[in-house]
Amino acid sequence: MEPLHQPILYFYGPSQPVVMLQGPILQLCPACRGVTPPARLYRGGRYGYVGSFDCTHCGAAVTILDRDSQPPIEYVADHPQTGEKMRQQVHYETIYRVGGGDFERLEGWLGQRITPQRGQAPFIPLLQRLGLQVKRHDWERLPFHSPPPFTAQIPQPFAEWLELYAAAERNRPHD
Ligand SMILES: [Zn+2]
Repeated sequence: MEPLHQPILYFYGPSQPVVMLQGPILQLCPACRGVTPPARLYRGGRYGYVGSFDCTHCGAAVTILDRDSQPPIEYVADHPQTGEKMRQQVHYETIYRVGGGDFERLEGWLGQRITPQRGQAPFIPLLQRLGLQVKRHDWERLPFHSPPPFTAQIPQPFAEWLELYAAAERNRPHD
């Protein structure tokens, strides 16, 4: 998949959740769990409405919602056969390993901060900082296995981030 626009994260402070203000999300169907390409750019949901698409697998009309620009992303559709209302919530911050706890663990393994204390941060510089650290330690990059239905569907630049994250996790110092 092609890289989308620059993702932007928001840091609320140490030990607080991190929110993806802008970044790629999948067109995921809550009725059949299928993913309809391409990934789309999330930029917050005005009044909670993010967008909609038709699932190419089962034909369901899927609506994408959030909590007025706050996670989680929620996919809602009527099941094409049963008419049952289907919902699936996704915390992309967790899937992409950019939640508050993920940065804390990572910075513990690296032995240094790579994130701002607070406020809005473009993601690419964070990715580059982690890349430099992994290179400096001479850590081998590892494939990262996301849970289904995200397997092999993680958009860039988060696919690269997850490889670097896996390298740091595998090689983390033991005490
Ligand atoms: Zn579907």
